[in-house]
Amino acid sequence: MYGILTSSPTLVRENVGDFVHYISDDVSGQRRAPLDGAINSVACWGDTKAVHDDPSRASVTADGTRAKPETEGHHWGTVCPTDPDYRARLLDRLETVGANDVRLTTLGFPGPAFCRCERCERQFETSDRDKRVAWRTETVTRFVQEVANRVSGDIIVTVYPDPYPGNLRERAGLDPQKLKAHVDGFLVPLCSISYETTYWVESLARGFARELRGLDVPLTIQLSASDAEVDRLVDVTRQIDSHADAVVYGTREENFDTVQKVIRRCQASEPLSQSV
Ligand SMILES: [Zn+2]
Repeated sequence: MYGILTSSPTLVRENVGDFVHYISDDVSGQRRAPLDGAINSVACWGDTKAVHDDPSRASVTADGTRAKPETEGHHWGTVCPTDPDYRARLLDRLETVGANDVRLTTLGFPGPAFCRCERCERQFETSDRDKRVAWRTETVTRFVQEVANRVSGDIIVTVYPDPYPGNLRERAGLDPQKLKAHVDGFLVPLCSISYETTYWVESLARGFARELRGLDVPLTIQLSASDAEVDRLVDVTRQIDSHADAVVYGTREENFDTVQKVIRRCQASEPLSQSV
């Protein structure tokens, strides 16, 4: 199956492909009204506005580095996942958005060195976990379980594109084995500007297909390319379509024609699995 990811309600209404991911809540902190019939995408702890309004909310390392947009390796602000007020508001928002299917992005901790704020340290020390990575994973899994209790639509979880065994747990506290009971799909973004090289796309897609094999949870791969030609995007899709159940293309007004042509060509040939 093939679909588009967009923040444009106009493009959502174009009805291109088999499904639409609509960015209702992005990492800047902007909120848009969720759209019926779309899979509404919500940035969870990625929220630059919340961090800007109150920098003490940002996730922090042991040496005091905060997850802010200007911090090296971070493109947006990330709130500490144990911030109780933020968590409560996020769950309320997801309950509203989750009348439709919902996609979660920026789920978990923003890197292996986060979060070492006083509250997280206290919660880890008073937990029954010996290892911090186990406590972090439990914290995120419990949140997703709570989301599953509050939303009526399907839940798709976006994961960092690192299929090396154990790395998702160490980076973010995401454990597909533990999450599978609460979610209806995993999504991996493999984005580039123009896909000048493509071997890494196939390698990562293959790695995730292997890592998630046996979980019985569909895998969607996201491709986004502002400068790629139709032929190149079709070629990249061909390279990954045996490893994924669906492909979603990041789409803006400027590249809508390209994406539309790519989806039509891909739909006209071998379709992906119909299981998503
Ligand atoms: Zn914290």
